[in-house]
Amino acid sequence: MIGLSSAAPQGGCSRAGCREAATWRVDWRNPRIHAEDRVKTWLACDEHVEFLRDFLSSRSFPVRVTAFEQADAAGGGPS
Ligand SMILES: [Zn+2]
Repeated sequence: MIGLSSAAPQGGCSRAGCREAATWRVDWRNPRIHAEDRVKTWLACDEHVEFLRDFLSSRSFPVRVTAFEQADAAGGGPS
């Protein structure tokens, strides 16, 4: 099951058990427990971005999916 409390973006997919690098970020909010300005962020790989988005949208949570760029990729260059 998905850990609803894991919020901090760390570069890996937020799907439980998935260790893929994230390529998408999923910003969402639970209107029942979160204030208007409280937005949580999951990260997702290509395989799980739809799963996570559907998981949230099926609960009528506001959800926004945008491309995620790894913060630590700046120094290394393409490999
Ligand atoms: Zn994944």
